[in-house]
Amino acid sequence: MRDVFSEEVSKILNRYLVQFKGLAVGQHVFSFDVDKAFFDEFEGGEISNGRLSVEVILNRLSNMIELDFFIEGDVEVKCDRCLEVLTIPTEFEGKLVVRISDSIDESEVSDEIWYVSSNEHELSLAQYIYESICLSLPLQRYHGILGTSTDDCDSEMLERLQTLSLDENQEVREADTTDSRWDKLKDLMNNQN
Ligand SMILES: [Zn+2]
Repeated sequence: MRDVFSEEVSKILNRYLVQFKGLAVGQHVFSFDVDKAFFDEFEGGEISNGRLSVEVILNRLSNMIELDFFIEGDVEVKCDRCLEVLTIPTEFEGKLVVRISDSIDESEVSDEIWYVSSNEHELSLAQYIYESICLSLPLQRYHGILGTSTDDCDSEMLERLQTLSLDENQEVREADTTDSRWDKLKDLMNNQN
């Protein structure tokens, strides 16, 4: 019996397949759109939504395929400060080399160099596209970067988070009072009075 759910999943990621078997030697251009349905396929990811265009210039050689990627668009991520959704622009340029060979040089295999056997006929680019978009994101994401406004930071949430961290500090200070050094300091201060 076929699993209806996994069939649905592959339907979305199947949009990012490139059939290379019948491609003539030379350049071919492919375009893909990346949207919410795409990001939903990668559970637990940092990107909740996005609208990006992916252009791939594929250069077919006899035993090799070179793919140049150009990715551009907007993604939705969480703000580091207020935890609300933040939309930022992003772009990525990268090159992937796929060797068509039945013997694999393990020392050469990497994120940018793949091997496919001579009886394969398609490349799945979804994972590469997803990881490239993740790589293109800035390490810190908050309202105020890349054309976004600090005014959009959720001020109520910021206050709540600030109160939380103040409470934490309070707890630390209370824990300190059991420290004998603190008692000595108190004694010292009392003696001064
Ligand atoms: Zn924010």
